[in-house]
Amino acid sequence: MKPDTAEIERLNAAAAGGAEALLRALVERNGRAVRLASSLGAEDQVLSHMLLGIDPRASIFVLDTGRLHQETYDLMARMMSRYRMRFEVLFPAAEAVQEMVRDAGPNLFYAGVEARQRCCAVRKVEPLRRALRGAAAWITGLRREQSAGRSRTPFVEWDAEHGAIKANPLADWTRDRVWDYLRAHGVPYNLLHDRGFASIGCAPCTRAVEPGEDPRAGRWWWEWDAAKECGLHPPAGGS
Ligand code: SF4
Repeated sequence: MKPDTAEIERLNAAAAGGAEALLRALVERNGRAVRLASSLGAEDQVLSHMLLGIDPRASIFVLDTGRLHQETYDLMARMMSRYRMRFEVLFPAAEAVQEMVRDAGPNLFYAGVEARQRCCAVRKVEPLRRALRGAAAWITGLRREQSAGRSRTPFVEWDAEHGAIKANPLADWTRDRVWDYLRAHGVPYNLLHDRGFASIGCAPCTRAVEPGEDPRAGRWWWEWDAAKECGLHPPAGGS
């Protein structure tokens, strides 16, 4: 149910107290109907550590596209053992993947933006919809600094498409702040970051970036003219 504007304002005010204060406010109001969408990237590791500190059984889900890096699965296993937690793992609909691969091949994403978006729609966007069914709020690791398209990311907004509050507690964090937090708290992270991966997604669609290069440049690097998004996060104001 859509909260009133005052509730969104109250949550945005809570965000002034920091990311953890916002998470606490969300959990106090919505319990486990708050779900963290984790790609196991650095930002999501910060949020997982904070959220599990608030509620050790908090709901954290992973969209397993079937094309993730082995290092990402290794990190999932390390998280499960370090925090004694379980991820809710969502897979794409088998029949949709079968039809897509039969029709366009396993590497259709290299054929163009349309084909790539078709793959993201099947492997990510539809499972996200399922993951958020019944959710009161979802949490993402979006940061304004990550790209031009994310530069207006608010702390809290209403996500009409999924019928839930969308919270971005790290919206104003810098990359250095993320890494300072991970190191200070000894939070496990994806070892691909040590090999130059700034943003980690599916294995065939992510590569390392050079120092100083745009962090999103490692995603779908063959699409020079397209917005580097998979459809999970429309630009702020578009949802
Ligand atoms: S990132 Fe690549 S492999 Fe993953 S869902 Fe999108 S197009 Fe498919």
